[in-house]
This record gives sequence, structure tokens and C-alpha cells, in this order.
Amino acid sequence: MSGVNEIRSTFLDYFRKEGHEVVSSSPLVPRNDPTLMFTNAGMVQFKNVFTGLETRPYSTATTAQKVVRAGGKHNDLDNVGYTARHLTFFEMLGNFSFGDYFKERAIELAWTLVTKGFDLPKNRLLVTVYAEDEEAALLWKKIAGFSDDRIIRIPTSDNFWQMGDTGPCGPCSEIFIDQGEHVWGGPPGSPEEDGDRFLEFWNLVFMQFEQTAPGERSALPRPSIDTGMGLERMACILQGVQSVFETDLFRTLIAAVQETVGKKADGEAMASCRVIADHLRSSAFLIADGVLPSNEGRGYVLRRIMRRAMRHMQLLGAREPLMWSLLPALVGEMGRAYPELVRAEALISETLKLEETRFRKTLERGLSLLSDATGTLKKGDMLDGETAFKLYDTYGFPLDLTQDALRAREINVDLSGFNDAMQRQKAEARANWSGSGDKATEAVWFELKEKHGATEFLGYDTEAAEGVVQ
Ligand code: ATP
Ligand code: MG
Ligand code: MG
Ligand code: MG
Repeated sequence: MSGVNEIRSTFLDYFRKEGHEVVSSSPLVPRNDPTLMFTNAGMVQFKNVFTGLETRPYSTATTAQKVVRAGGKHNDLDNVGYTARHLTFFEMLGNFSFGDYFKERAIELAWTLVTKGFDLPKNRLLVTVYAEDEEAALLWKKIAGFSDDRIIRIPTSDNFWQMGDTGPCGPCSEIFIDQGEHVWGGPPGSPEEDGDRFLEFWNLVFMQFEQTAPGERSALPRPSIDTGMGLERMACILQGVQSVFETDLFRTLIAAVQETVGKKADGEAMASCRVIADHLRSSAFLIADGVLPSNEGRGYVLRRIMRRAMRHMQLLGAREPLMWSLLPALVGEMGRAYPELVRAEALISETLKLEETRFRKTLERGLSLLSDATGTLKKGDMLDGETAFKLYDTYGFPLDLTQDALRAREINVDLSGFNDAMQRQKAEARANWSGSGDKATEAVWFELKEKHGATEFLGYDTEAAEGVVQ
């Protein structure tokens, strides 16, 4: 059985022996990069090295990078608890070449590690390549001895990676494992690809072009490599389980949840346990890296994650703040690899306790309003925007928490009604203040209210958030 700590060191040791510099994970809040909400891939800390703006004393590197995908371009928040493979916080293992080796060596290195280092059975592996990248297909044939049916050509942007609208970019190749016929799902590119049978665990990006303007691309003088392997997904494969939530680390966390609420969970309660275990990790790591719950930006994403977990705790029967009491289990599992978690333990604990105490004041009343408002609704119906807005405005329910609460019953929220209610409230607030005569005070008041007051919408404006995110 391979635990996550062993997998991490197998990966890093392998690339170190192959001449790569072992570089530490960068923080979850990217330094000097206001365009990106959270570090969402291993390459983030090397962005400027790839573009040539910055040089390092090494030309190849390897990392175990902590990442959060809960906002912006890569947002897996809604998947968590409901798919077998998505987490909001996970570790991405990567190897990087800054103009050093390219496609052939990258595929060789990956293939050797996967089949010799991790000993995965060759006959269960398959890869995708970008449809126009015949070179990659030929290399996989040569190096792995794959027949054509194991090399799936994908014509969509799924297999063409771009850092942004301009900058380095290139085709990518993803490695999948077939978990067996007993698991539902089809190969990548097929209509059943969302099933769990074929699990993607490693993505190799061949950075070979530079996008100079929309529709204009030139060859990079020094093509580079960026790869990312999901540590938890590899653990899932090596431990012979079908879901990341059944791996050793998550079993421990889920056991802690069950012990804390004093019940054994199954079915929907198990989905709650998964959400809580995942959200505990992302919350703890975000707080350790300096994010605190607030009403806008990164802090609001954190608040959404925390409150969502807290509603699930309530569903499991918790009637007092309990998230903080799960923290020692997490620190016990991950504190050695991430000492910042140990250093910040008291802060994380206090922040969880404070936020949960605050949220519990309105949680129960909000939930009973929600159940009254949806009592007669059926699958496919919509919750009116007014109620969703009231939950948000008066009871502190982030919109996605309400959506998550209705998901199992397949009830949607009327989003345009929600936005109308929001706009109307803003307009009314303004109207109520007109005629006060003191325009300057008024302006300050609105600024404050918009920032701190009832309309904690700023951070939730996904359109605006997406705009600034990579
Ligand atoms: P998926 O298609 O499953 O959503 P992806 O193609 O979005 O994954 P990449 O951006 O290629 O993922 O990231 C590189 C690797 O990181 C993936 O191959 C996978 O092993 C891992 N990974 C990506 N998203 C998650 C997640 N939400 N939770 C856990 N691991 C992930
Ligand atoms: Mg994804
Ligand atoms: Mg993918
Ligand atoms: Mg991928």
C-alpha cells in the first residue's frame, strides 16, 4: 500500500535522480500575480521562467505543489463530493523543463516512472494527444509501444493548453488508467467520458508555441515542458480504490468527521463527509497561507468553502461549532509534509470556530426558511430569486450554498431573479438616502455598505472574478 507521503517522495526522488532541482511548493496565494485567484497548478510559480522574464540557476525542476481549484478558470467546487476524482485542495506533482528537454524525453520520463517507479500495468494505460500533434502520437507508439486504439486524438481545447490569451502554449497529452469494466464510464472523448472508469492522472504540456495575438502563433525558440500529476489520484490507483475519498488520508479524515458527529454515515451523509473532509483541507491550507474569511475576493471564496462545509456538518447533526475539532486529524496526517499547517494550527482553529459561531446564529433559521420555501417544489422546479436573495442577504448563505442544498432534489435557483433582487436592494438603498443633502457622506456610506454590509456580493460575482483570473 502506497500512502501519499511515499508517493510524493517516489516522484520527487525520481526526478531528482534525473537531474531536476527539487523546489518547494509556493504559497496558495500567488506572489505578485493579482490576475490569479489561487495557485491552481504547479507551473504558476514558474510562469516568468517559461516566458523568459526570469532566469533560475537550473533548467529542470520538480515540485509537489499545493493547489486550490475553487474559483476562477479552474473551479471544481461544485464537483467535490459528487465525483470520485475532484477535490478543491490537492497536491500536484510536477516536472518542468525550461528550454531543456522536450517532448520525447518528457514522455520517456513519464512512462518510466509510471510503469517502473509506480509499477502500473501497461495494458490498463492509455493516453490522449491533441489531434494535430502527430509527433506526440508517434512518440507514444515508439516509447510505450501503444497501438492506435490506446492513443486517443482529441481535437478540442481540452488538449491544447494556454497560459492566457497570449504567451507560451502548446498541445498536451493526458495519461489515463482504465479502472475496469465494473466501473461505469467511457474513454476520453466518448459520450460516457464523465464516468469513473477511465481516470486521468497526469497531464504533460508541451509548450512549443507563443501566442502573440489572437489567431497568431509562432514557434518558441526553446520549447519547454510543464506536467501535473494529481497526488491523490495516484494514491487512489495504487491503493486499488475507485475514489480519492477512499484513500488512506481521506479515510482518516472521514472517520474523524463521523466520530465528531457521533454517527456512521452512508448515502447522502457520506457525500456530506466527503465535502467536509475536502473543505477542511482547503480552508486550513488557505488560512495557513494568509487568507481569512471576508466578504470579497479570495476571502469570500474561503468563506463560501467554510460555510458550505458547516451546512454539511449541520446535516450530519452538529448543533454547535465542530469544524475546528477536526483539525488535529488533518495536522496529524499532513503536518510533517507541510509544517506551515502546524505553525498556523491555533490561527486555523480560532478562525474556524469564530466563523462557525457566527454562521450558526443564522444557519438554522435560514435552513428552515429554505425548507418552507421549497416544501412544495418538485424535481426540475426553481426556487424564486427573492428567497435565495433573502437567504444570502439576511442569513449569510452564499448563493452556491443554497444551490448545493437543493442539488440532491434537483431544484435550481432562479439566478436572474436573484440578481434582480440584488439590484433592487442596491437601488432602494440609494433612493432612501437621496435628499440627505450630504453627498460626500452618502458616497462614503455606500462604499462602506458595499464593502462590508449586507451586500456581500463582490466576491461572488463570478463574471467579474473570472475576468481577473488566469
Ligand atoms: P479533470 O479533467 O479530471 O477535471 P484536469 O484536466 O482539469 O482534470 P489538469 O489541469 O490537467 O486537470 O491538472 C493536472 C492533474 O491534476 C490532473 O491530471 C489530475 O491528476 C490532477 N487534478 C486536476 N484537478 C483535480 C482535482 N480537482 N482534484 C484532484 N486532482 C486533480
Ligand atoms: Mg478539470
Ligand atoms: Mg482533463
Ligand atoms: Mg488534464
